[in-house]
This record gives sequence, C-alpha cells and structure tokens, in this order.
Amino acid sequence: MTQSNMRLVPWDRLQASTVALFRAAGSEAREARLIAEHLVEANLRGHDSHGVGVVPMYINGLVAGGLVLNQSLNVAVDTGAMLICDAGQGAGQVMAHDAMELGIARARDTGSAIVSLRNSHHIGRIGHWAEQCASAGLVSIHFVNVVAGAIVAPFGGTRARLGTNPFAAAFPRKDAPPVVVDFATSKLASGKVRVAHNKGVEIPPGALLDNMGQPTTDPGKLFETPPGSLMTFGEHKGWGMMLACELLGAALVGAPTQHQAAGNGAVINSMFSVIVSPDRLGTGGPFGEELEAVLGWVSSEDTVKLPGEPELETRQQRIIDGIPIDAATLEQLDAAARQVGLEKGFGIV
Ligand code: NAD
Repeated sequence: MTQSNMRLVPWDRLQASTVALFRAAGSEAREARLIAEHLVEANLRGHDSHGVGVVPMYINGLVAGGLVLNQSLNVAVDTGAMLICDAGQGAGQVMAHDAMELGIARARDTGSAIVSLRNSHHIGRIGHWAEQCASAGLVSIHFVNVVAGAIVAPFGGTRARLGTNPFAAAFPRKDAPPVVVDFATSKLASGKVRVAHNKGVEIPPGALLDNMGQPTTDPGKLFETPPGSLMTFGEHKGWGMMLACELLGAALVGAPTQHQAAGNGAVINSMFSVIVSPDRLGTGGPFGEELEAVLGWVSSEDTVKLPGEPELETRQQRIIDGIPIDAATLEQLDAAARQVGLEKGFGIV
C-alpha cells in the first residue's frame, strides 16, 4: 500500500467521530466517551490493531448480541482479598475501567487486591488497565483470556486452539511515566495481522501458519476459510504463558474459556488482575529507590528502551502529526457508522 492510501487524522477528530458513532449505536454519554478515549489512546500509542479499527467488529458484535451496551458491572464474589466481577458482555472499556477502580480502592485499603473481570466484551489494549492502576501509584499484573474463535496454535501444533491471550504489568515511577509491559502471547496480535492485510503488506516470518499448517508471511491466510493460525511468541515459553492466561483469566473463576466459544462474532475477554500498593504495605520508599536503580542499571546503553517507552515516543509524534488510518479501515468505519444510522458515515473523508 502506498502512503497516499493513508490519512493522517487529528486524534481529537477521531475521538469525536467515535463518540458520535457509539452515541448513535445507543451508548450513554459516559460509555461512548470511555470507548472512544480508549481506542484513540491505543492509536496514539501506535497499537492501531487495538485502535478505532476495531469499531466495525464491535458493531458486528452488537448486532449479533455479543456486545451489550450500557451494562453495569456486578460484583458476584467478594472475599475481601479477591473480587469477582461479572461484566455481562458489557462494553469492555467501561467494565474493565470500573473493575480496576474497585481493585484500586481495595488495594489502597488493604495493600493488595485480586480482581477478576468475567465475561466482558473486548477490553482492548491491556496496558491501559495497568496504566490506570499505575496512575493511582499501584503496581499491577494482568492475565487475560480471549474467547472469539480459536486463532493461535499451541507450540508444536498446527490447529488453532486458543486466543491471543495478552499479559500486562505496570510499575509506577515517582518522576517519570510508568514502565508498561503489554503484549499478546501470540507472536503478533491478530489485529496487527488485520492491519497488515488492510495495508496489503506482508507480516514477519515465524508468526503465521496457513490452513495446511505451513509457515507463511501472507496475512490473508488468517482470514481464509478454513483460516490459518497464529504462532505463539517465544516458542514453548509463550505457549505456557498463553495457557496460564486461559487458566487464570477464565477457568479459575468460572469465566468462558475458548473451547466454549459462542461463535456469535463477539470478542469476549476475562481478566485476572493482581494490584499491589507499595505505599500501603510500607515499602513504597525503598521500592521506588530500588526501581530507579534497577532501571538505571538495565538501560545504561542508549540502544536499550524500557517497556512502555516506544509507545510514549509514538504518542508524542502522533499528537503532532495525527494518526495514520488506511483507506480500507476508513471504509469499514464508514460502513459501521451507516449501520448504526449515521447517514453521513464516520465523518472522516
Ligand atoms: P508488541 O509486540 O508491540 O509489544 C508491546 C510491548 O513491547 C510493550 O510493552 C512495548 O513497550 C514493548 N516494546 C516494544 N518494542 C520495544 C523495545 N524496542 N524495547 C523495549 N520494549 C519494547 O505488542 P502486541 O503483542 O502486538 O500487542 C499489541 C496490543 O494488543 C497490546 O496492547 C495488547 O494488550 C493488545 N491485545 C489485546 C487483546 C484483547 O483481547 N483485548 C488480545 C491481544 C493483544
């Protein structure tokens, strides 16, 4: 795809169009705002796979009954140390936000909290939830399962069995942005393969098998019938972590697992989060000092970046330049906007 097929769209325009689309779809104002802010933030940080390009998938999920708008989070279990929250397939950007707020309050109160979010519609970029905890001065880790039709083959296999089950962790710093570790346990997030397919570019080797189990760099092989399958990152190590996400994120707490996929076009996430307050535990000062010492030690070479830094660099640039959106994605957004009754489409031409 040539550069002429890309539009650079100011982030606030993209956000306004996304709010308008979800308002038209039936979201209350807070829900439309939280969804739009989250998706545009993913674009700003360079994760276009989890930016506004997912909106058509959300609208398809809504039509098929997989996404329930204006849902309220329900605390199903509260043992003190652990909360299990039911999301009832509500919009993930609201359900995860509200679950994290509950966990933050609990961790501030008791020093730590485990929060399980069950059966939410897609919760997007997982680092966002780790950053929410970090903004409150809390350390957190998040194991997430995805139920949306199997797409990743176990290490050693050729048949897709699980989703791209992401992991995230964040460590707040006193005078600097947090360290944010945030990735899918597949070599590539499926949205990145979609973006490559829309752009008409190849993906790196070692990430995808075709439907015959043969390695390929053609992103289209993931969308054929029958589809190909993504490969895990880090060979057997990524495979183990992907499985841990399935078991912690879902099986442990009675949330849907991939083999129970409903197949109604919805992307369902469940998230197991551990949130710790170093201040409440009385270790905040020494932890902050040791964190800086470790970060200084590991990044003593100019070529080393800390997790989270590439996203912040991209964010700075995109705030100034705008967010690149390809023509195919804009067409899909237009169609989604018309589907929810916006006659003029998404409003970015
Ligand atoms: P990725 O491969 O781009 O890895 C991102 C991580 O690596 C970040 O922590 C980033 O800061 C770090 N990183 C990148 N380059 C670096 C460098 N040179 N030095 C140091 N650190 C570096 O991420 P991905 O696997 O493509 O995932 C993309 C997004 O998709 C994530 O935000 C993830 O949460 C999201 N995701 C969501 C779902 C879902 O179902 N909701 C599923 C899968 C992935």
